[in-house]
Amino acid sequence: MSERTKIHRAPQKESFDPAVARSIVERALVAHVAIVVDGQPYSIPIACAPFGEELLLHGSTASRLFKHLSQGHPACVSITHLNALVLARSSFESSMHYESLIALGSARILSEDEKRPALQALTDHLFPQRRAELRTSTEQEIKATSVLAFPLAEISVKVSAGQPDDLESDLDADVWAGILPIKTTYGVAIPADNLKPGLPIPHYIATWVIG
Ligand SMILES: Cc1cc2nc3c(=O)[nH]c(=O)nc-3n(C[C@H](O)[C@H](O)[C@H](O)COP(=O)(O)OP(=O)(O)OC[C@H]3O[C@@H](n4cnc5c(N)ncnc54)[C@H](O)[C@@H]3O)c2cc1C
Repeated sequence: MSERTKIHRAPQKESFDPAVARSIVERALVAHVAIVVDGQPYSIPIACAPFGEELLLHGSTASRLFKHLSQGHPACVSITHLNALVLARSSFESSMHYESLIALGSARILSEDEKRPALQALTDHLFPQRRAELRTSTEQEIKATSVLAFPLAEISVKVSAGQPDDLESDLDADVWAGILPIKTTYGVAIPADNLKPGLPIPHYIATWVIG
């Protein structure tokens, strides 16, 4: 935490527990990376994976985002898990349950030696157990990929949970109030149109969980 990441609004929702931050990162498949180019902010969603104390990001070496990050410009990375809608007795008090993490810093370019294992870690995070049956990435593919590690040192974590926070004067209203959980799950796998006939859906997909 720093002066820049100190939460002012609803500070009771701030979490300083490293396990909470870790859990948010470990369950994330996507992060939003915000950069400022020529005075214009852009917030770009990309895949991500935990990488030690850092967050792993990868993209085309031709991408503006990755060129910008590779030049060491400051960025802001955010991860959000939306857990529920909070149905209060007024629109004003209606809200959401969430866990969110914001990290400030500059990305680190991974060395050529670090790139391949990092990309393998990313594949293992997004598609567990699948790498064993995939062909090895070519040198050309690795070369065309920018692999960066974003620090998770200057972070803030906000967790919203709990009951609708209604006004005392609204509690008597004939309006249902409560929590509507949001569950994100994988659907049924759809074979590719050009799949070689006879190939079954991989068994490990059934073990994948999200969120
Ligand atoms: C799914 C979701 C929906 C939300 N909906 C709304 C909404 O509709 N309206 C609304 O006003 N707010 C909403 N919030 C809360 C919002 O993210 C901000 O926390 C809030 O608006 C206060 O902003 P601020 O700039 O005044 O925060 P400040 O407390 O002034 O921010 C200071 C620092 O606190 C940290 N911080 C702020 N917000 C977060 C966060 N969410 N997670 C982690 N660190 C944070 C950052 O490091 C920031 O630099 C929502 C959050 C989530 C995750």
